Amino acid sequence: MSVDKKKVEKDVTVTIGGQSFVVPAGSKVKDAASSAGIEIPALKIDPATCKGCTLCVKVCENEAVSGEKKEPHSIDPAKCVRCGECLAKCKTGSIVPA
Ligand code: SF4
Ligand code: SF4
Repeated sequence: MSVDKKKVEKDVTVTIGGQSFVVPAGSKVKDAASSAGIEIPALKIDPATCKGCTLCVKVCENEAVSGEKKEPHSIDPAKCVRCGECLAKCKTGSIVPA
């Protein structure tokens, strides 16, 4: 069985721009957002809270996130397709509207 990296493994609550929605296990973040009537905005990473854990780098299929481990990361808006998958991974809420 192949695993689709772009689907979350368990239910995750994502908050962006003050709005929250649940991404059910096996769903794509963008689909769940769309169902909730939310459009994923352009994103940036707050350097004040980012721990440099690299979880967002690993989940991004567009190589849009970069940064040194344990240092604040950043999102390249030219590469980001606003899929929102990184939002479901970040445990510090550091990925915010640009
Ligand atoms: S929203 Fe952008 S940075 Fe985040 S995983 Fe998707 S393409 Fe990568
Ligand atoms: S997942 Fe969050 S804390 Fe971890 S590197 Fe990405 S933005 Fe920073």
